[in-house]
Amino acid sequence: MSDLRRSALAAAETTAGHLAAVPAGPVWRPVGDDDRAWLTRQQLPAAGRPLDDLLTDVRERVLPYPMGNGHPRFFGWVNSPPSPAGVLVAPLAAALNPSCAGGDHAGALLERTAVRWLAELVGFPHPPGAGLLTSGASLATVVAMATARQHALRRAGHDLRETGLYGHEPLAVYVSAEGHSCLRKAAELLGLGNRYVRTVPVGPDHRMDTAALRRLVLADAAGGVRPFLVAASAGTVNTGAVDPLDDIADAAREHGLWFHVDGAYGALGVLADGARPRYAGMERADSLALDPHKWLGVPVDAGCVLFRDPAGPRDAFSLVPPYLRDEGADALGWFSEYGPEQTRPFRALRVWATLSHLGRDGVVRLVRHTTGLARTLAAMVGDADDFELLAPAATSVVAFRHLPADAAGPAAADALNDALPAAVQRRGRAFLTGTRLSGRPVLRACVLHPDTTEADLGVLLDEIRAAAKEATA
Ligand SMILES: *Cc1c(COP(=O)(O)O)cnc(C)c1O
Repeated sequence: MSDLRRSALAAAETTAGHLAAVPAGPVWRPVGDDDRAWLTRQQLPAAGRPLDDLLTDVRERVLPYPMGNGHPRFFGWVNSPPSPAGVLVAPLAAALNPSCAGGDHAGALLERTAVRWLAELVGFPHPPGAGLLTSGASLATVVAMATARQHALRRAGHDLRETGLYGHEPLAVYVSAEGHSCLRKAAELLGLGNRYVRTVPVGPDHRMDTAALRRLVLADAAGGVRPFLVAASAGTVNTGAVDPLDDIADAAREHGLWFHVDGAYGALGVLADGARPRYAGMERADSLALDPHKWLGVPVDAGCVLFRDPAGPRDAFSLVPPYLRDEGADALGWFSEYGPEQTRPFRALRVWATLSHLGRDGVVRLVRHTTGLARTLAAMVGDADDFELLAPAATSVVAFRHLPADAAGPAAADALNDALPAAVQRRGRAFLTGTRLSGRPVLRACVLHPDTTEADLGVLLDEIRAAAKEATA
C-alpha cells in the first residue's frame, strides 16, 4: 500500500473517531503549556517527516484542543459543527485541488449549482451568474459594497475604476446600531470613510428604525453627502433580530439607495415555522450575503453573496489580462470577474455535499429544530427567577442575563455577567459568549447544532449558575 493510501485510511478512522467522541468530551479545554509551545513555537524540520508521523501529531497535539463548536453544548458566537457530508468531501476537494477562478471543470461548474440552491432555499431571485461563494460574509460584504459603489458612481457619471473616489462627494452608508462589524470594515476598506457610515438607531425590538433612516438620508442629501447604500440585517448577532426589510426596501427605492441585506447568520431563518412574513422584503435586496458555514454547517470556509443583477459585480471586478483570457468561456465568464479572488478554492463541493445530504427537508428540519430550541431556552430563561430575558428569540439566538438573588446591585450584576462567559467556558461543560446590548453586558446563546437537546439547555443554565457561585465565592 502506498504511504498516502495507508495514512488516508488512518486519517479517515481518526476523523470518524474524533467526531464520535466529541459529545462525551469537554466542550473546550485550555491548551497545556507544552502543547502551546509546540503549536506556536516549533521549528521547521530540516528533513521532511513521514505522513504517519504527522497524523500522530494531529491526534496528540491538535485534536484535543477544539474551539468547541463541534459540541452540542456549544452556544458561542455563530459557529456550527461541521456537516458530515462536508467533512466527507473536503479531502476530495483537496485531492482535485482546482482553482475555481473559472474554466471548464467540475469545480467551477458545480459552484453554479451550489449558489443557485442557496438562492432558491432563501427565496432570492437568481438569474444565472448572479452570485458567488466567498470566504465568508465579510468578503461577501466587500464584494456587495464594492459593486454598489461602482453602480452608484457609474450612474453619477464618475469613473471610479479609473480615478477612484478622488473628486467625488462622500458616499453615505446606513447601518443599524445592531449591524455586524463587517459592514463598517467593508466601508473602511473601500475608502468610504467611517465618518460617512451612519448608525441608524434601533427600536426597543433591536430592529432598524426606518423613520430614523429616512431622516438621516434626507439630512445627508441636503448637506452635500450622497446617500448610497443601506445595509439591513436578516438576523443580528446579538439578538437574531430581523430588520423591517420591506420598509427598508421601500425607503431604499424612494431615495435611490442600494439595498443590501446581511443574512450571514439568519437568512435561512426564513425557513422556520411562521417566519416568512418577518423576512418579507429580503427578496427585494440588490445584494444578499449569507454564510453556508453558519447555520448549514458547511465546514469553514463558505460564504456567499447573491445579486439581483449579475452585471453589477462584473462591472465592478472584471479585469481580464491576456494570460487569463479564456476564449472558450461561456457568456457568464469566470468567477474571478465577479470578485477580488483569482485562485479560488473548491468551496462548492462542501456546499453541494451538505445540501444534497440534508435535502431541502433536512435544511428545514435543522432550522426548525434550532429555532424551536432557542424559543424553549427563552421560555426557560423567562420562567426562572434568577434569569432575565432581554429579547424574544427571533431566530436561534437568545440574549439574557443572570441575576442571582444575592447579587449586590446593578453594578455587581453587570460585572458578573461580564465575567460569566469565560467562567462557563473554563468549566468545560457548556460554551457561551457575551455581548453588550444597550450598553449592558449580557449573555447570548446561539443554537446551531442539530444534536443539541432540551436537556443541554438545562445544563447550560445550571452551568451559568454554578459558574456564578464560583465567581462570587
Ligand atoms: C458571521 C457574520 C458575519 C461575518 O461573516 P464571516 O463569515 O465571519 O466573514 C456578518 N454578519 C453576521 C450577522 C454574521 O453572523
